[in-house]
Amino acid sequence: MLTVSKLKRAYGDFVAADAVDFSIAKGEIVGLLGHNGAGKTTVMKMLSGYLEPSAGQIFFEGKLLADHLKAQQQKIGYLPESLPVYPELSVGEYLDYAAELKGLRGLEKQHEVKRVVNATDIAAKLLAPIATLSRGYKQRVGVAQALLGKPRLLILDEPTNGLDPQQTLQMRELIRAIAKDATVILSTHIMQEVDALCDRVLMMRAGRLVLDEKLAELRISRSLLLTSNLAAAELQKLLSAITGVKAIDLLTSQNNETHVRVHMGEAGDVKAISAGIGKAIISSGAELYQLQPETRDLESLFREVNSNLPLTNVSSNNKKEVLDHAA
Ligand code: ATP
Repeated sequence: MLTVSKLKRAYGDFVAADAVDFSIAKGEIVGLLGHNGAGKTTVMKMLSGYLEPSAGQIFFEGKLLADHLKAQQQKIGYLPESLPVYPELSVGEYLDYAAELKGLRGLEKQHEVKRVVNATDIAAKLLAPIATLSRGYKQRVGVAQALLGKPRLLILDEPTNGLDPQQTLQMRELIRAIAKDATVILSTHIMQEVDALCDRVLMMRAGRLVLDEKLAELRISRSLLLTSNLAAAELQKLLSAITGVKAIDLLTSQNNETHVRVHMGEAGDVKAISAGIGKAIISSGAELYQLQPETRDLESLFREVNSNLPLTNVSSNNKKEVLDHAA
């Protein structure tokens, strides 16, 4: 539903985003990650049509965004990093104004405002001036305006920024509910956020997309945890002969149980290597008590992507070329 090709944006001489390519399918919740200044907001502003790309193209539902800007923007909801709200307006007045900007009129407008007020649970604050709202309520008002017109694509720039833990949980619930009817792309630098919400991760570093991967895939590292009744030396001998096995660490060995970590090389399918290991142990007549992929820690992956080091051990077919320069 959204395809971005060779997207670039420069501010004067400074290139804030470059060579950004990705596609998002209908119904996905995609997390756009990266440190401060990585280029997330710049990309989101371009996706929402509020910032013109210096180069590259954005296709939304098969049409070039730039060629059908007004009509396309009505199908896109955008929560900017800092909402251009009008402090003196009440929540109701502001949403009415935002609905007009989305091209809604008359009864349809009234119904839509009512719908988004209910969806974001801000009815109690309808008459309150925006200036008097807490950070959490302001953020809800921002999401409410983004939802006007039932957008098919929702772009949320740091939706939980500045919220307390309770408000954060509520905002996540709200985003999950919204995602039942719309595709969502949200930016964050909080890994727990991604963990709690996203199907897929796009990571940016210094204006480049350095990773595009499904969360479930990212979690799978190229190492396995294995427990067997084979002695460590025998296990070592048996596993070393299997193609794709690179190294074995002995974790524990007691009561006739040997627990090891099996490192696989960069090449080869994890499932196929695991199956080979399982078969080798069983056909040797030994017992296999445990064989499972080791779960990858997303925080360390995030650090790895944002360091100067080349990306290693990332189980991605979509792994992007890593830049020489770091963020
Ligand atoms: P954050 O997490 O801090 O919001 P970000 O990943 O969203 O960061 P951007 O806001 O897209 O990053 O900024 C990317 C780079 O572009 C930064 O170095 C920023 O200083 C620069 N930049 C952004 N807007 C402008 C502008 N209007 N003029 C000049 N430079 C800008």
